[in-house]
Amino acid sequence: MSGNKNNQSKEKGNNHFDNHFIRELKKLGHADMEKCLNCGNCTSICPLGLEYLPRRLFKLSQLGMVDKIMEHKEVIFLCLLCRRCEASCPRSVSIADNMRVLRNYINKEIFNNK
Ligand code: SF4
Ligand code: SF4
Repeated sequence: MSGNKNNQSKEKGNNHFDNHFIRELKKLGHADMEKCLNCGNCTSICPLGLEYLPRRLFKLSQLGMVDKIMEHKEVIFLCLLCRRCEASCPRSVSIADNMRVLRNYINKEIFNNK
């Protein structure tokens, strides 16, 4: 699956979720990033201090902005899977599991679909 250019317009403003992309991710493991409120607690507590990790990645996932996610795929592989951020999440999002699913998605796209 590749990203839809029209999704670029979705990043700002509305809360339109691309449920198709979320459904695709759920086939690859436990994913619940659709619960994310984008509060930013996780990003502020993450020891890596990276802008996209993980709040913005979840927002892009909700919007189905696959091209943007692929642009930042190195950030997804930098996550330590330490779960430190999960303790501060008001929605109990399984953040590390979601990062694993995003890695699975990238691996599938790069190695299986060529
Ligand atoms: S699991 Fe650890 S490294 Fe990954 S986003 Fe959470 S706090 Fe950061
Ligand atoms: S702390 Fe939880 S709800 Fe807040 S941005 Fe991170 S994943 Fe989303």
